[in-house]
Amino acid sequence: MVNFLIFGPPGSGKGTQSVRLAEKFNLAHLSTGDMLRAEIAAGTELGKRMSSIMSKGELVPDEVVIEMIAARIDGTKGKDGFLFDGFPRTVDQTVALEKMLNKRKMKIDSMLVLDVDHDELVKRLIGRAELSGRPDDKDPAVIENRIDVYKEKTEPIIEYCRKKGIYKPINGMGSIEDIFVRLSDYMKKFL
Ligand code: ADP
Repeated sequence: MVNFLIFGPPGSGKGTQSVRLAEKFNLAHLSTGDMLRAEIAAGTELGKRMSSIMSKGELVPDEVVIEMIAARIDGTKGKDGFLFDGFPRTVDQTVALEKMLNKRKMKIDSMLVLDVDHDELVKRLIGRAELSGRPDDKDPAVIENRIDVYKEKTEPIIEYCRKKGIYKPINGMGSIEDIFVRLSDYMKKFL
């Protein structure tokens, strides 16, 4: 099993690339954002509690996403590894993920970080709002908050992973296809 984190600020294209990469390399694509939106769409109690946090662009509590991920790791069969998208988002979530993987004789093999200019991020998110219907993409103030939360709570994971020698920055500017080629050229060395 080979396990990748795909990282980058909101609008960096993680979700789009993850779907394609998971298919190419037979990885289980685990997106906590998708899981949370599914809870909201299903009208569950958890979904109701999380939706107001998400619509402000804040992070949901660590325990919520850690529990969701643990359930998915154990429920996955027949894949060559995991591609974690939008998780971990805090250093505490990273430590929890490492523990979960270690217990199952696995590790985080590589952290891929998509680098995208700030102006390009905002442009992409506003463009996406029309198609996705996501409330957190509609309001420019919420977009700015998500980018700030990323810088404050999520970016410290980069330093944590850099020290472990698993950090790999990838240029996230250009066409979807170009970025896909950059990511897959790097990832294929592990598989
Ligand atoms: P994006 O990368 O575009 O912000 P996501 O779909 O990954 O979108 O996440 C949407 C929202 O879901 C986040 O702004 C946050 O409120 C919540 N969320 C998703 N994953 C996590 C996580 N690992 N920890 C805390 N909150 C999360």
